[in-house]
Amino acid sequence: MRYLTIGLLTVVTAIAPGCAKTERPAAETATADVFSFANTTQFVTRHLHLDLDVDFDAQALRGNATLQLERLDGNASRIVLDTRDLDIDTVSFLVDGGMSVDADHALGDRDDTLGAPLTVDVPPDLEGDSLLSLRIDYNTNPESTALMWLPARLTAGGEHPLMFSQSQSIHARSWVPLQDTPAVRITYSATIRTPTDLVAVMSANNDPAAERDGEFTFEMPQPIPSYLLAIAVGNLGFAELGDRTGVYAEPELLEASAWEFADTQAMLESAEAMFGPYQWGRYDILILPPSFPYGGMENPRLSFLTPSLIAGDRSLVAVVAHELAHSWSGNLVTNATWRDIWLNEGWTTYLEYRLMQEIFSVERAEEENVINYEELLDNFERIDPKYQGLAPEADLDDPDYAQGTIQYHKGNLFLQFLERSFGRETFDLFITKYFDAHAFEVITSEQFLDYLDAELLSAYPGKVGRAQAEEWLYEAGLPEGAIIPRATTLERARELAGLWSSGEIVLDRIPMDGWSPHATIHFIDSLDADLPAEKLAEVDAALGLSNTQNAEIARTWFTQVAKRGYRPAYEQLGNYLKRYGRARLIVPIYTALAGNGEDADLAQELFAAARDNYHPQTVSYIESRLAERQ
Ligand SMILES: [Zn+2]
Repeated sequence: MRYLTIGLLTVVTAIAPGCAKTERPAAETATADVFSFANTTQFVTRHLHLDLDVDFDAQALRGNATLQLERLDGNASRIVLDTRDLDIDTVSFLVDGGMSVDADHALGDRDDTLGAPLTVDVPPDLEGDSLLSLRIDYNTNPESTALMWLPARLTAGGEHPLMFSQSQSIHARSWVPLQDTPAVRITYSATIRTPTDLVAVMSANNDPAAERDGEFTFEMPQPIPSYLLAIAVGNLGFAELGDRTGVYAEPELLEASAWEFADTQAMLESAEAMFGPYQWGRYDILILPPSFPYGGMENPRLSFLTPSLIAGDRSLVAVVAHELAHSWSGNLVTNATWRDIWLNEGWTTYLEYRLMQEIFSVERAEEENVINYEELLDNFERIDPKYQGLAPEADLDDPDYAQGTIQYHKGNLFLQFLERSFGRETFDLFITKYFDAHAFEVITSEQFLDYLDAELLSAYPGKVGRAQAEEWLYEAGLPEGAIIPRATTLERARELAGLWSSGEIVLDRIPMDGWSPHATIHFIDSLDADLPAEKLAEVDAALGLSNTQNAEIARTWFTQVAKRGYRPAYEQLGNYLKRYGRARLIVPIYTALAGNGEDADLAQELFAAARDNYHPQTVSYIESRLAERQ
């Protein structure tokens, strides 16, 4: 995912204190997933078939899931699956000749984080069978934490409803009863029935030419972890970007999306040249409505993206590079447990950095690197040191909170450190070998460490010791020898902001035309704290900040507007808060407004006016942030 966490600060605050465990988990037990009820050492799912009706009126999926299970333990006769807020109707085993045998089953107590275990007893008749076909008839509920049901008014077109899923981290269980753990990989197939004016797409073999006849079928032949199960249904069109790439979006967004992401095919080819063959067939992207709470989600074959990336200048495509890179790190080689998520996100942030160098420039990649580094330093200040290792030893309370700048950016810096220590050529050989050796498998941090040691550290002795690698994995902060990123373009922008603030240079003399959005963002962020209103008006007029189409520049500008109580831009600020539901874009503005000493009530008013446009998770997060300021 790209910037999954609703606000990176939740990483700290949501982790329950007092649940720390001091002992380092042994490698052989580290694969145990504490966030799943499933007894995967006794039964393991090999294939899933979904047969579901999409009911927009009831905000529910209704139908059945059939799991093909392999019995690993001949003595085991009870299957435990994960569910959350599902209504289970009947549970049966399918036997030869199309017969079905009803099975005794029970739903356990509901845990807020984990949901409720569904236990199913295998009938004595099937005792000797090592392969079982288990069918569960069920429906989801409007409270499903994975599914967002948007009324027509919240879509770009305004005439058709739209729904989409977000299964990571452990939300797949709130739309499918299954073994919801990254440690189990499954293939899947699906038949999805929709209203006849809509189109269904999944993280599977989408057919751009599929007819709108109310029924869509899918196959996903490559095994994936459950968190990559994905579905979206809406009035979606398709535009081709290259022979293996394309974009799905509402017709109103299609042309702009196709232009913005035109480099996707070239990016795919660069990625293959660096990381090895792309193993998933097509790579398409889906542009969701503005309420999509995240930057992007790497659902295989079909990345889900926020429309806030459509800047009109192709300047925010790093998120596409990120989601594409997940086709190797994460989707192909997967973290075995949520504690190992850095193997997914840290690697992906590093591959994104390499892709940005290749597709754009070293300078551009370095700018992103600096911004990530500054965010990381900021988070070291706030996050409890026991959670600052890449593979923290402390227990996590909720896997959604196991992901933040530490896993992304510290992970990236670790891999940059290895690249510099061994040289790019040697490290690149290691990368392709690593992906190849672990393709379609899961891996723990400790297994990675052993592989790294064997293939790199010990193979080229005298460069990096195992103890140094362990320091990155288990210790707080940044180890000695970490590369501190620098970008002269950003330093220059900051310096010019100082000179202009103090009247030593006029705005016309600043060469902003050639600047990247990051340079503009640094310039805005570096303006003097006590800059008078007329200077703010001058810079707003010169750069068109209040009306910019670039959502990241707007985020920075409106955060400053809110901090400084600069009222002439409040109307546009309010419009921006209504336009986007992506938490990264709006949370800092609400926080700045509520904290400027004058506008706490206004922040509440603007929130009341915009909240219907937001995802429920975004709503509850902003509510808690505003409550802190009361
Ligand atoms: Zn990611």
